[in-house]
Amino acid sequence: MGLLNSLLEHNRSFVDNREYEQFQTDKFPDKSLAVLACMDARLVELLPKAMGLKNGDAKLIKNAGALVTHPWGSVMRSLLIAIYELRAEEICVVAHRDCGMNAIDPARILDAACQRGVSADTLATLRSAGINLEGWLKGFDNVEDSVRHTVSVIRTHPLMPRDVPVHGLVIHPVTGQLDLIVDGYATLPKAA
Ligand SMILES: [Zn+2]
Repeated sequence: MGLLNSLLEHNRSFVDNREYEQFQTDKFPDKSLAVLACMDARLVELLPKAMGLKNGDAKLIKNAGALVTHPWGSVMRSLLIAIYELRAEEICVVAHRDCGMNAIDPARILDAACQRGVSADTLATLRSAGINLEGWLKGFDNVEDSVRHTVSVIRTHPLMPRDVPVHGLVIHPVTGQLDLIVDGYATLPKAA
């Protein structure tokens, strides 16, 4: 039986036994919070538990490295929608120690793509179209610098209201300890 079948089988008993009832809530985050975190599998349950978040508390956006790779990409759009449409009032960027995006090697990924059937011609075509594949796949060298940069990109985005605190944190993937890198309250404009 494949993975999909086992997922669907679990789902049938989950719904039949009404296990969903303990998770019922609405779409507005009870803690008025949006979180941008890494997709690392160690954080699936650890991150919300370590932050004291339960179902319904926050809008949670995940990708590789907790990065905003483009100011007009889907992560930034999701954060803006969380603020303007879904009553989020604060943002936390949560990266983590031992992240796979730390010092990732774009050449290794492209080699693997070639071994999986992507042709060298395809890579050449993309490059001649002006796509910087290495730059696009690149991760970060230092997780704390990366968090500071991501916080700055979000905070200074032209469509982000200036009164939204954007915090930066790094979580330990084993203990769940959070290290504060950027206190978003400290960079808010001073009230007149
Ligand atoms: Zn990660």
